[in-house]
Amino acid sequence: MSSKNGVPFRQNLVGSWNYGAKCPYSMDADSVTIHETDNNAPADNEIRYMIGNTAQVSYHVAIDEKEAVQGIPFDRNSWNAGDGGSGHGNRKSISFEICRNYDPTRGTTNISGTQLEQYKKAKANAIKVIAQVMLEQGIPANVNTVKSHYDRSGKNCPSKMRNDGDWTDFRDAVIAEYNRLKNGSSGGGSTDGSASAAIKVGENVKVVGNLFADADGKGASSKSRGKSAKIDKLATGKKKPYHLTGLGWAAASDLSSPNAKTVTIDSLNVYTSQSLSSAIVKTANGYRILKKGTKVKVTGTLKGQSVHGSTSWSEVDGWGWVPSVYLM
Ligand SMILES: [Zn+2]
Repeated sequence: MSSKNGVPFRQNLVGSWNYGAKCPYSMDADSVTIHETDNNAPADNEIRYMIGNTAQVSYHVAIDEKEAVQGIPFDRNSWNAGDGGSGHGNRKSISFEICRNYDPTRGTTNISGTQLEQYKKAKANAIKVIAQVMLEQGIPANVNTVKSHYDRSGKNCPSKMRNDGDWTDFRDAVIAEYNRLKNGSSGGGSTDGSASAAIKVGENVKVVGNLFADADGKGASSKSRGKSAKIDKLATGKKKPYHLTGLGWAAASDLSSPNAKTVTIDSLNVYTSQSLSSAIVKTANGYRILKKGTKVKVTGTLKGQSVHGSTSWSEVDGWGWVPSVYLM
């Protein structure tokens, strides 16, 4: 199980068959939008329900007292904010749902007992996860980037925080946690190394394709192929968004990061844990099985069952685990 800032985190991503309803647009987020589910169900249910229907309602991550589950890729939009087809919340923000805030049987956010404890923990988990995701996605946390559903379109959401009068405390706690993580205090961080899942400013990369004179893709040149350099800036919304110090501009496909690997056997099962006897990860229409030559990113490593003399297992693209001996 991977985690974000100490909170168990997993993906149950919407199948591409349902992108049209749930996340039709690619997205480069510059902010987040916070919600509460107005329900008492756990995160797992909220995500499974959301990705399985074809309503134009979606959100990236649901968080409860024990885990966070991602249903929409962070580089695609979600229909969360009620601010229209080109609204900032719908098209430029990563959306988070905090679970357990409402008792549907009584129709109230005035909850108590077990549910209140679940809600409080879900909220504490949300602060940690949202701050970590913002850091990983290169989104600075401040009052202009941490927004509520209410801020986007006037809906009474997150309804319990608004009813209790503590939305601004929550927002400020996310910002404080982001600053704590960014300043490198101990105790935080992503235990699965998923900060490397996308190329980011500051990362060292190797040039495997062309570089360009500008971020629009003019002036292609192959003369830097094989060189390594650091990403020093990002031109969001451009075709060749990554700038390599002293060299030029590139697309992700022109670059290779140290965590990029290639599958070396004909058919590689992705397992739910570090053992050949664990379950194979399911996808929307079968199992996660990678063909030879598939490029993956290693998002974590752990020791597990010995395979061909090696106990090293790699988590690939956050999906699940493969013996590291089958990656090159
Ligand atoms: Zn909402």
